[in-house]
Amino acid sequence: MCGIIACLGVSQAAPILLAGLRRMEYRGYDSAGIATLDDGRLDRRRSIGKLDNLCQLLEQQPLSGTVGIGHTRWATHGGVTVTNAHPHQAANVAVVHNGIIENHDALAERLAACGYRRHSETDTEIVALLCQSHLDAGREAVGAVQATIDELEGAFALCFVFADEPDLAIATRRGSPLAIGHGTGTMFAASDALAMAPVTHRVTFLEEGDIASLTRDGASVIDAGGHPVQRSAEPVCARAEEYDKAGYRHFMEREIFEQPEIAARAIDGFCDQGAVIETIANEIDFATVDRVSLIACGTARHACMVAAHWFESMAGLPARAEIASEFRYRDPLLGPRDLAIMVSQSGETADTLAALDHVRNAGLRTVSLVNVDSSSMARASDHTVPLHAGIEASVASTKAFTCQLAALAALAIEAAAQSVPSGSSMIEDRKQALRTTPALLAAALGQSAAIKIAARDLVDARSVIFMGRGLMFPLALEGALKLMEL
Ligand code: GLU
Repeated sequence: MCGIIACLGVSQAAPILLAGLRRMEYRGYDSAGIATLDDGRLDRRRSIGKLDNLCQLLEQQPLSGTVGIGHTRWATHGGVTVTNAHPHQAANVAVVHNGIIENHDALAERLAACGYRRHSETDTEIVALLCQSHLDAGREAVGAVQATIDELEGAFALCFVFADEPDLAIATRRGSPLAIGHGTGTMFAASDALAMAPVTHRVTFLEEGDIASLTRDGASVIDAGGHPVQRSAEPVCARAEEYDKAGYRHFMEREIFEQPEIAARAIDGFCDQGAVIETIANEIDFATVDRVSLIACGTARHACMVAAHWFESMAGLPARAEIASEFRYRDPLLGPRDLAIMVSQSGETADTLAALDHVRNAGLRTVSLVNVDSSSMARASDHTVPLHAGIEASVASTKAFTCQLAALAALAIEAAAQSVPSGSSMIEDRKQALRTTPALLAAALGQSAAIKIAARDLVDARSVIFMGRGLMFPLALEGALKLMEL
């Protein structure tokens, strides 16, 4: 999870790109880079480590030009080196990429046989070389990009700039998010719509396989079939204002201590009569559901493991938690009366999105629990439960995990409500129990002095074993995951 950005306007691109990369910094990265186009020449600066290193490099060796692309990399193919950092460039094209090109080796071999050799260890450089080969074969920029992505397998969000196209940047995606931002005098594309929020007033989310051509006058899009399409531009929402540490030492501390308040607000919403969860539960009619598959990755999957217990014990429904990355690579047996519940903070987790696609093709009913209502998963599901956790900047999930659990609990309670005899107090008791959890969270955080002492004892440990059974088993897994992440 890292970031790409492209911009095209009248002002110098490098500082605009750098500011955009700064807004995506919270996502974590290991290296960064920028390429701009000036007077028919593509030039780039790349560095490993923090963006400050890139800033210093740009101070010593500035880049000029009003069109450019930028990247923060989280290496998947090849070590963390300047040569592997993006943008990658072939003769007349530079590209930034989020994702993974699975058939890069086969393509590299074929391209090498035609004289297009790679210099880095990345899968991404192959995209630049492949695009160059199509340009050399006489295609114009959009045609070259289209021919390029036709040959790619895997997940990608890509932005291209071309040496001989001073009024063009091309953005395309499949399996990774990408949006176009409409600014004042500047057009943007970025993998994170929030990162563009302060400088754009409207944003267009690209669909799978879309290719968007950005010029200074606006954007035009062709769909996966190559047909021109109109994609709507949505106003940028107010919650996208700059997110800061609110006086805490770091984002994770803010997010930990925000939990009681955020959870209380979310739970009130989830348990309201007529609120989204009750409405969805009624539309689903759990009497027609044979089995619930809860599908997610990482932390969200741990929330799903807890929820599988709840669906079975409270609602009497067979339920299983699946790792999306495994689910999508086997042939799961699915029945037409199954319900798929997908959970993802961002709503863009590539494996969970692919699993959603799989269950939709199998005809299942789908519910997505996401923290970003405008995300790809929200748009592709029958029903969406917004988690209302607010922006989560820390890599280790805190308040989003808490809100995932709360939403799943509320959904399991609503499922249970459909099968209990009317007049039973069980459902109201459960809701009441859920409403008391924020106070319990606050009480737990009230022990932070004692927790700090315990943490000090752990600091020198060489390994830590987390143990738990039943509902505590997934929580032990989650605790271990957090310790490893941090
Ligand atoms: N697979 C590419 C690389 O390793 C892109 C990784 C990313 O999404 O940052 O360079």
